[in-house]
Amino acid sequence: MSLNDAKFMLGWVFSLAVVPIALGQAGPRSAADITVRLYSTRNVSSVVVTPIDATMQVCATCEKTLVSSRLQMKADLHSGRVQVDGKAMQRIFIEGQIRITTDDGQVSTGAGRWTISAAGDGLHVLLVLPSERYVMAVLSSEAAVDEPLESLKALAVVARSFALTNPDRHGAEGLCDSTHCQALRLTQVSEHIKEAVTATAGETLWWHGRQVAGYFTQSCGGMTEDAAALWGGAPKPWLTAHPDMYCQRRPSQWHTEFGEQELRGALAAEGWRLPAAIDGVRVVQQDASGRAQRVELSSGGQRLTISASSLRFAVDRSLGWNRLRSDRYQLRYENRRIEFEGKGYGHGVGLCQAGAAEMALEGKGYREILSFYFPGAGVQIGVNDKGWQRYEGRGWTLWTFRPPGEVLGVGDEAFAKALALFPSAKAMHPTVTMYPETELFRQAANEPGWVLAATRGEAIELQPEAVILRHGGWRPLLLHEFLHSLVEQEAGASTPLWLREGLVEALAGEHGDVQGMTAAQIDAALLRASSQQEAERAHRAACGLVQRLIAAQGIQTVRGWLRSGVPAGAVASQ
Ligand SMILES: [Zn+2]
Ligand SMILES: [Zn+2]
Repeated sequence: MSLNDAKFMLGWVFSLAVVPIALGQAGPRSAADITVRLYSTRNVSSVVVTPIDATMQVCATCEKTLVSSRLQMKADLHSGRVQVDGKAMQRIFIEGQIRITTDDGQVSTGAGRWTISAAGDGLHVLLVLPSERYVMAVLSSEAAVDEPLESLKALAVVARSFALTNPDRHGAEGLCDSTHCQALRLTQVSEHIKEAVTATAGETLWWHGRQVAGYFTQSCGGMTEDAAALWGGAPKPWLTAHPDMYCQRRPSQWHTEFGEQELRGALAAEGWRLPAAIDGVRVVQQDASGRAQRVELSSGGQRLTISASSLRFAVDRSLGWNRLRSDRYQLRYENRRIEFEGKGYGHGVGLCQAGAAEMALEGKGYREILSFYFPGAGVQIGVNDKGWQRYEGRGWTLWTFRPPGEVLGVGDEAFAKALALFPSAKAMHPTVTMYPETELFRQAANEPGWVLAATRGEAIELQPEAVILRHGGWRPLLLHEFLHSLVEQEAGASTPLWLREGLVEALAGEHGDVQGMTAAQIDAALLRASSQQEAERAHRAACGLVQRLIAAQGIQTVRGWLRSGVPAGAVASQ
């Protein structure tokens, strides 16, 4: 959801205090801002920034200015400063949506808070973006184009779990954009990926009450890997080696071979020197999953033992990436040639993408996929839930993370009342989502934290219950949002916001006042209010204006304007 999204969001503004959004709070989270360093594995010395909708600051306390034209940025390696259109600066802050083109032609488009600085190795480009959009960027890079929806959802939960449990893996630079952390691609997000991320919003992996990291691999080759065996550290029971019969149904074999000279060259490039010709190579240690752990090379009576990951790294570096696709192989050394017969692609820990896609094609849901790849772990949003649950109201659907209690009954009444106030010939079925945390609501609705609810078409997003209860409770809120859904069905693209918002508030019998704002001023403030006070004022003004119009013209006439447009002069007299 970009900043210049053409669709309007209509919400109900708080009548009381702004809700403080806890930033940097400790403990498990369902959503947070994520910092990513772009181009982390390459040296980028210059970029072109094309603004789409962005402001810029040359220091943290400097004035924000609109970026209206393209900016050329270059690293000045001597001074460690950034040259922006020829002017040297310490760093530059950009807020909003931009397109970045690197000197080697890579194009990324994304929105968030950008910091661009220079270091000895070139430009450092950091982007802070909401975790839900971060997950979309990871899926845009890592998911197969024809990935089934359920395995895509499973991958979304895994990517989110990794990011929210490791947000500062590289300190202040957050996460890198390579497979060391999670590769990502900043681009237009497909509808398929949006659907998978939205359907699992805020869901992560939990093991015995603890939020845990998730990992994924392209193909485990029929047997997943144990995280502790590969990376060391304490045993992680949800990341153990186990057979994967789903991925066994898909081909994952690979073969590679090369001569002694190439092998010597690859090892020498990493600093290993062998005194004479290599006369033997064998795997001397395997882990429980059957992956090579140690490989021994003999040369003129000497023996050199190296780890399988060092061997893979050396070969990949000098003979091309992905020559050794995994450590799951048998090797043979004969006639001064080394031959590998392998299976799988990647480290093998956690979710196997090949197996997960197979499970989805066989009709398994994403939770079933996740519980297969992360034994004993479950999907949760917070400490005390079982992830998203669906409940059916009369004519509407509720998505919630906890038993619905009174909300279903109150919602049934509110929906019936909305239909009575604004009878609709068209069938509609709103979906109401109750978010457990303000940050997750803010990300899902793409709204500032001081909006109580947001409705887009039939989708109604709500702040956490505690916030709703402090600001009038369920009854008026659900009536208001159901009315929005109904009114929006009749509104055209050019229907002014004051009419859409004011009609809802007038029908719901809300309190309207504030004279002296023109319709155009109300619309501007409803579209992009800079503060809660301004938004609140605009809502009351819209309500008052529509109440006066209904009193003068009748509800049917005013309702008709949703489709036909507001006749010239109708507003001027109010
Ligand atoms: Zn990293
Ligand atoms: Zn597998």
